[in-house]
Amino acid sequence: MHDAMSSKPSVSAGHVLEAVFGYSHFRGRQAEVIEHVIGGGDALVLMPTGGGKSLCYQIPALVRSGVAVVVSPLIALMTDQVTALRQQGVRAAALNSSLPTEERAETEHALRTGDIDLLYIAPERLLNSDLMQRLAGIDVALFAIDEAHCVSQWGHDFRPEYLQLGVIAERFPDVPRIALTATADQRTREEIRDRLLPSDAASFVSSFDRPNIRYQVGLKERPREQLLQFIRDRHAGESGIVYCMSRRATEQIADWLNTRGVPALAYHAGLESTLRAHHQARFLREEGLVMVATVAFGMGIDKPDVRFVAHLDLPKTLEAYYQETGRAGRDGLPAEAWLVYGLQDIYRIRQMGAESQAGEGHKRREQHRLEALLGFCETSECRRPTLLAHFGESYAGHCGHCDNCQSPPRTWDAADPARRLLSCVYRTGQRFGAAHVIDVLLGQDNERIRQRGHHRLSTFGIGKDLARATWQSVTRQLLARGYLEPDPDGHGGLRLNDACRPLLRGECGLSLREDLPARRSEPRTRVAAADVAMAPDTWAALRAQRRRLADTEGVPPYVIFHDATLLAMVEQQPSNLEEFAALPGVGARKLERYAEAFLDTLAALPDSSMR
Ligand code: ADP
Ligand code: ZN
Repeated sequence: MHDAMSSKPSVSAGHVLEAVFGYSHFRGRQAEVIEHVIGGGDALVLMPTGGGKSLCYQIPALVRSGVAVVVSPLIALMTDQVTALRQQGVRAAALNSSLPTEERAETEHALRTGDIDLLYIAPERLLNSDLMQRLAGIDVALFAIDEAHCVSQWGHDFRPEYLQLGVIAERFPDVPRIALTATADQRTREEIRDRLLPSDAASFVSSFDRPNIRYQVGLKERPREQLLQFIRDRHAGESGIVYCMSRRATEQIADWLNTRGVPALAYHAGLESTLRAHHQARFLREEGLVMVATVAFGMGIDKPDVRFVAHLDLPKTLEAYYQETGRAGRDGLPAEAWLVYGLQDIYRIRQMGAESQAGEGHKRREQHRLEALLGFCETSECRRPTLLAHFGESYAGHCGHCDNCQSPPRTWDAADPARRLLSCVYRTGQRFGAAHVIDVLLGQDNERIRQRGHHRLSTFGIGKDLARATWQSVTRQLLARGYLEPDPDGHGGLRLNDACRPLLRGECGLSLREDLPARRSEPRTRVAAADVAMAPDTWAALRAQRRRLADTEGVPPYVIFHDATLLAMVEQQPSNLEEFAALPGVGARKLERYAEAFLDTLAALPDSSMR
């Protein structure tokens, strides 16, 4: 297994980047972090998903002497990373409970003989005193703590074993530590520093913007059909994730998509564990599968070519939304975040806020988070500044490619209709739901209304000038702004909140977003690259070649090459080894193993499809 990597002391970070990973430039703050850690410094690294965190410890691992120990919370994640690294010729291994004894013994032997550069390990295994002892006897290059937010007791990924990782400092005071996460909020950052790093560790915080993700938020009308349309128009044959709230919904929607010709699988915590693992493995390995899941599907989904993340229900918080949508487009190619929501969603969220049993301080924070989420959904402005502001980052100007930038929503003066609606809620006794209140405004003559004598109210029929959909839109936006709130008895009623008083008294105006009926987005070509659209045969042939190699080796296709590398092949049409080596993502090992196969594929294509 000895190869170029054994000559550690003489290699530079830039050389490793090029020779092993096949990239010519560092991205963002990678170079700074890598230099700092190679020099023995401790670091906290915050980068969005897809930002390139792994290289921040993988390159120091190859440059510093000794083995780098990488703490990772999920076995599936470790396995994937080790597979990908070995493909690149890196001496990486994992130690976890799922391994056969034989393989474990082999890894332990390689550790003793210094033949491993990166050891991936679950926290509980690292904490096991046996292993600590063994590590104490060998040269350790660094400790990397991946998904470091798992140390936060407030987050939903909390892992109690992460709290004990502080012992690393006691046992290995001179070994640098690097903690990495894509979770942006301030509080989690502080917890990570407190628990996992020395007080003088350097922080490397990157922008959390994900420029390749296009955000689109729409009104929920017929959610399934809207979803299907979106997939057919813009992501046919591509991988994506659809998030739903209930377990039952994930199964129903997956079934329904299958009957409509979109291959889909369901994933939720209630599925039997082998089936769940099977679905996850299929999603990672196959191309063009849609995973319909609850939020149980998430951490460690390292698949780089997820082209869209769709939400059929509102996520819990804006942080959760950002993490979930962040799983799209890790490879840096165009991807989409798509969400539909309606009055019911807003009602439910408001109700959760009201019912929270938390203490006052906590409740205030929850309230703040909730407003942020609703604000993001309802905004008429560019989505990006709204989103980034929530993570303490400012974004100047407009992104130009979110839904609001591309078709700016119109607003209208809704003060008068809003007053009519609020007064109708008041007159009907502040305990009826939106449908009934709107019936009264529209002057509907039905049994429910007669029984309650609501046809005799002064607000009966005063809203005939506007359509039902408009009244629903006004109701939703008043609820989102907190002028209306759920009736706490839990029967779906609405009541006034004090916040609406100035509006009722005419002391302020109200401008609302004009809801347009759900529009179809422009159909787009897959992978959105002009070159692929121009050379569909080349693209298909390269993908088929990748598929064959992946099947032979029993790895996911992206482990052979990412889409970005295939795209570069289409664009650059390499015809010899030297040109092939210059493609992004082609390091020495992959050049040796795969260049010939792909060069043959390109050479075999008739000239016409290459133009
Ligand atoms: P993260 O762990 O932050 O989500 P990864 O480390 O998985 O991100 O990197 C995301 C993608 O970016 C991967 O496909 C990786 O190969 C690629 N990448 C990372 N660094 C670079 C770089 N310097 N140049 C080109 N691509 C890079
Ligand atoms: Zn925008």
